[in-house]
Amino acid sequence: MCNFLESSQQLTYKILSLVNFYCYAAHMSFKANQIISYREMCNEEEQEQLQRGMNFEIRDGYSVVLMSVKLNAPYADRISEDGLTIYYEGHDVPGDKLKEYDQPATNPSGTYTQNGLFCHAIDQAKKTGDFPLARVYEKLQMGIWTYRGLFEMRDYTFVERGSRKVYEYVFTITEQKLREAEKHHAEKLIDLEQTRQIPGKVKLAVFKRDKGVCTQCGANDNLHFDHILPYSKGGTSLKEENIQLLCARHNLQKSASII
Ligand SMILES: [Zn+2]
Repeated sequence: MCNFLESSQQLTYKILSLVNFYCYAAHMSFKANQIISYREMCNEEEQEQLQRGMNFEIRDGYSVVLMSVKLNAPYADRISEDGLTIYYEGHDVPGDKLKEYDQPATNPSGTYTQNGLFCHAIDQAKKTGDFPLARVYEKLQMGIWTYRGLFEMRDYTFVERGSRKVYEYVFTITEQKLREAEKHHAEKLIDLEQTRQIPGKVKLAVFKRDKGVCTQCGANDNLHFDHILPYSKGGTSLKEENIQLLCARHNLQKSASII
């Protein structure tokens, strides 16, 4: 009789807990596309140092992943054109500078390596549909990072690369999920404008062109990548001509004047 009522209540509850969960995990000091120093990144994650790229569940409810798409980066990480999917390479046997060995899922002692921990969590998630989360940071150059956003770890493959095999993880941004939840929730959860993904190559070019300072006042702290023509008005994220560096103050001033 009251099946419908029950299930709609259950649904509301599910949506609310989803919203709460993502709010919790998504709550952080940085916005996507913000430029931060190495120290700011460590402080945000409450770590003395972040030296490894893969940090499985070092925080309650999510992992922290560091990546780089630069040509001389140690691993072949890639980002899709729209910025919503990251292909992240697993890590080598410690000291395997020549990249001779297959990337290991277990240590000699039999415990999981970071590769193994990620794979295991994804395998489990495929049964439950509850994919593990990762905050992704991208290195632009020495000491300079950006926050890429909160991603779901969706899948992995163990693929041939040269004469050996490596892990390749697939992370997708959770924005879609947030937007679904948002439809059922009056409050605006995230500033979608801020999550528009700007490719690393574009970020680096803009950072160099603007010499690492706000284009309005020359401040060199609290910088953001700003869309000159807003994404919502058809501005592109893919061309450096439409992106500039702004400090937090000028970034805010600009969003106020647009609204
Ligand atoms: Zn400024």
